[in-house]
Amino acid sequence: MQYLNTKQIGPAVSFRTATLNGLAPGNGLYVPEYIPKMEPDFLDSLSQVTYPEIAFRVMKPFVEESITDEDLQEIVNHTVNFPFPLQTIETDIAVLELFHGPTMAFKDVGARFMAQCLSKFAEPGVKTTVLVATSGDTGSAVAHGFYQVPNVEVVILYPAAKVSPFQAHQMCSLGHNIRAVSVEGTFDDCQAMVKRAFQDEALNKRLNLSSANSINVARLLPQMLYYYFMYSQLQASLGQKPLVVSVPSGNFGNLTAGLYAQRMGLPIHRFVAANNANDTFFKYWQHGQYLAKPSVETYANAMDVGNPSNFERMMHLFGHDHAALRAAMHACSQSDKEILEQMEATYKKSGYILDPHGAVAFLGLKSVLAPGQMGVFLATASPAKFESVVKMVVPEFTTPDLPQQPEPQHHIRNEYQQLLELL
Ligand SMILES: *Cc1c(COP(=O)(O)O)cnc(C)c1O
Repeated sequence: MQYLNTKQIGPAVSFRTATLNGLAPGNGLYVPEYIPKMEPDFLDSLSQVTYPEIAFRVMKPFVEESITDEDLQEIVNHTVNFPFPLQTIETDIAVLELFHGPTMAFKDVGARFMAQCLSKFAEPGVKTTVLVATSGDTGSAVAHGFYQVPNVEVVILYPAAKVSPFQAHQMCSLGHNIRAVSVEGTFDDCQAMVKRAFQDEALNKRLNLSSANSINVARLLPQMLYYYFMYSQLQASLGQKPLVVSVPSGNFGNLTAGLYAQRMGLPIHRFVAANNANDTFFKYWQHGQYLAKPSVETYANAMDVGNPSNFERMMHLFGHDHAALRAAMHACSQSDKEILEQMEATYKKSGYILDPHGAVAFLGLKSVLAPGQMGVFLATASPAKFESVVKMVVPEFTTPDLPQQPEPQHHIRNEYQQLLELL
């Protein structure tokens, strides 16, 4: 399998090169040159196969020129060793919970897979330094994913005043090869310092810098596994019912991975691209015109994206054909008011506590699900991560106290020189 650049600049590259480069030349994104088909026998027997075995079979065609079978088995064993439970909410509606990994949000699988790949790709004796700016969730997933991974050092820059105590704890409490740096500034300041470091050739050479950005193919592709794990749990009871899957979307990495899984032959009838008030994609889906705009803040804040980066990958997948994209999915945009109402209604009806992102997906699912169909929505974060929102509709909701918050290991002003001294 080779990877093409959506901007059509430069040659096709291997999985290894696409992972190490992150972004393709000309700010393009790497996409698989074709989507392999899984054998019907494999799809029919998913419910009898272990998760690491499913993961091995699904990922193999995408990585086989860059990773040996033995290494791939080890990587997936490290990646999918926690549960992905499917819970019934109502007749013919279930939720797939993707928040049982170490940082309680669905980015764990991608971060862990990529971390293991980088460790395999390192030249003997050469350390790679992963430098990443975060507004919260990505930093915690990357910190935990790369924790104690051989040959990789991680430096995470986060805005001191902007991350929640919960997130700071997840980034600062690990130590070993993970260094969290709190910066007196905003997320954009952190991002600007990271960009400058990547343009600094001497520094790049000395530290062998790499990014763990969410557009990396090694973070995107393992998200296909969620859909296989979902199907393996549903298979026995699904019968002939068409399956509709609703995905709470921000940068659309998770949905793109779902579309790849469907192209591989997984029998998903239709997707729902569920958005909060950030409706750039929804408007495109409606009218065929894509107009990026600044993001607005919502309760489902991990989806506050005004210019979703994986839109380009979806365009590539559908050959820039608006009608083809519309045939594959429904889309919706939900307000904060609707999110709260749904959280409250679901709790009253079934006792199930939704996080705001899951609530967006549930709303989207209900707007299209027809009688005779089976619907699944993805819950991407634990409600415990959004305690203040959940408490608005479920006042008795409590989360366990965190252990005492560790001091940030490093604190710097918003000055590049200070970052350099640290590195
Ligand atoms: C990142 C994130 C999303 C959005 O996922 P995309 O792949 O960017 O669409 C949704 N929910 C949660 C909790 C997230 O952390």
